[in-house]
Amino acid sequence: MDIILFGPPGAGKGTQGTLLAERFRLPRLSTGDLLREAVRQGTSLGLEARRYMDAGELVPDEVILGLVREYLQTEGDEGVIFDGFPRTQAQARALDQLLEELGRRIGAVLVLEVPDENLVRRIAGRRSCPGCGAVFNVHFDPPTVQGKCDRCGAALVGRADDDEATVRRRLAVYRAQTAPLIEYYERAGTRLERVAGERPVDQVQHSLVELLSAPAAGAQ
Ligand SMILES: [Zn+2]
Repeated sequence: MDIILFGPPGAGKGTQGTLLAERFRLPRLSTGDLLREAVRQGTSLGLEARRYMDAGELVPDEVILGLVREYLQTEGDEGVIFDGFPRTQAQARALDQLLEELGRRIGAVLVLEVPDENLVRRIAGRRSCPGCGAVFNVHFDPPTVQGKCDRCGAALVGRADDDEATVRRRLAVYRAQTAPLIEYYERAGTRLERVAGERPVDQVQHSLVELLSAPAAGAQ
């Protein structure tokens, strides 16, 4: 079973992906992790990737796809959950080709959907305590005294990249990147399921598990 998980920043994609991976005993494939590991181990693809990284260039798709191929033939031979890949239609096409060569195909594309306003509140509302590490959210889980940590009383801080403008920019990038991919998979007739992601973690997970356990609507 090969699954792709899409979701905007702040929608809990990492959490849901990890839970799904445990539930279905499949590894979560992050190309960022694959790259770092290949570079660390100094494999031939890792060394090739490193040359681009050292030159401050993007690692080309052929190298990334090479790493994905290796993974799908080893740890991921029973199926994987793709997290953060593919990012472009070119990558999606290349992945389809690769899977076909291996006699596999994407079983489902799962899209976590959360309204932008909700994501902005979730991310931009985050405050953490520099003293003890406690995390609050001014909208969803506010401290008892505004701006002060409940546990140690230190002044709470927001992360620089969590301000509203930055969050909105990241969401715009996600929408621009993902919309053509969703279209690509819909055109290809790949099973695509949208799941309301603003609900509590366990409810979202329940929906995802039910979808993956049930045959696709209209499937034979
Ligand atoms: Zn504290």
